[in-house]
Amino acid sequence: MDIKTIGIVGAGQMGNGIAHVMAVAGYDVMLTDISGDALQAAVALIDRNLERQVSREKISAEDKAFAMKRIATTQTLTDLGPSDLIIEAATERETVKQAIFEDLLPHLKPHTILTSNTSSISITRLASRTDRPEKFMGFHFMNPVPVMQLVELIRGIATDVETYDACKTVVDRLGKTAASAEDFPAFIVNRILMPMINEAVYTLYEGVGSVQSIDSSLKLGANHPMGPLELADFIGLDTCLAIMNVLHDGLADTKYRPCPLLTKYVEAGWLGRKSERGFYDYRGDVPVPTR
Ligand code: NAD
Repeated sequence: MDIKTIGIVGAGQMGNGIAHVMAVAGYDVMLTDISGDALQAAVALIDRNLERQVSREKISAEDKAFAMKRIATTQTLTDLGPSDLIIEAATERETVKQAIFEDLLPHLKPHTILTSNTSSISITRLASRTDRPEKFMGFHFMNPVPVMQLVELIRGIATDVETYDACKTVVDRLGKTAASAEDFPAFIVNRILMPMINEAVYTLYEGVGSVQSIDSSLKLGANHPMGPLELADFIGLDTCLAIMNVLHDGLADTKYRPCPLLTKYVEAGWLGRKSERGFYDYRGDVPVPTR
């Protein structure tokens, strides 16, 4: 099937990046969020990020203007009804995602494909609560979306071949690379990445190292481009905790228990870069470790 219009739910870190790359690739985008401020901030950020691509000669000024014109915003979820493809990128909470799909269903076209950018929640379970589990799958972008090459495509138990192929075609048109993952907790990337980040938080919690020594160790000792705590702040500590809880509950193995210090940061509202404080404090000119 030919996808032309894409509805994106959630204009946070991921939603704005997804809108950006879709518009550059020529899709018409309708972006929604419950927060008007989030929508405004998303459009301003997309504009800035596109401008940066123009100044680096990755796209032309004309490409930028066309991309901006292709993005419409709305606070009314049901305006996404006519889309060919929906990508849900709202907060990582199953009840939130389930309610979004329930509200959307009566307004969708019969051919509309539903996808979720969830980092960890069961695609099969989300799909089973819709009227089209065969047209439902995981469409998992990496952060920051305009930069990262990979998209994980996750089949639920009922996802049909046409749906998978239609989503794969979109990934190809974006110039990104798809990796197929089966629908088990946290799929591939986060199944491996999150336990490492959680272990870094335990290493901090147990006093084995400071924020700085843990991050330098992995950067200089394992050649990682970012330290695990810096990366956790970048992803969002609430998202990291939510993913650990999904791994812990879904695989029923204590090796996935979230570190109490990670929980404490989230309870404090110190969610990382997006709230200006996490394992680092971002309110000054340079990030300062908070422990
Ligand atoms: P975020 O907190 O930056 O943004 C979430 C947005 O969803 C907010 O703007 C919020 O207002 C909006 N929202 C909440 N409820 C809504 C509703 N009912 N309707 C419409 N909008 C609603 O979070 P994020 O980092 O962009 O993550 C979004 C999704 O992407 C999550 O499922 C997350 O697991 C996934 N993801 C995140 C990353 C990452 O690195 N942050 C990477 C891949 C996937």
